Amino acid sequence: MAARPITLARAQHIARSHPCVRCGEYSFKKVTVKRASDAHKKELNVSWHAVRVCGICHTRQELGLDAEGDIVYEG
Ligand SMILES: [Zn+2]
Repeated sequence: MAARPITLARAQHIARSHPCVRCGEYSFKKVTVKRASDAHKKELNVSWHAVRVCGICHTRQELGLDAEGDIVYEG
């Protein structure tokens, strides 16, 4: 049975509450969450695609979240 996919607000919250992949801080100056493309959905099983820019080390990083809010990829 498939779980109901998490909402955009929930995805944004998860993207903000996961530490920076480089410096481990939680201070992001920009977090953008979008619905994953159909191709990504199919290939990677992700529902949400987040792009974050760290406020401390300025690293731009991407996160993929699945329908349950688990992180599928990051970097
Ligand atoms: Zn950082």
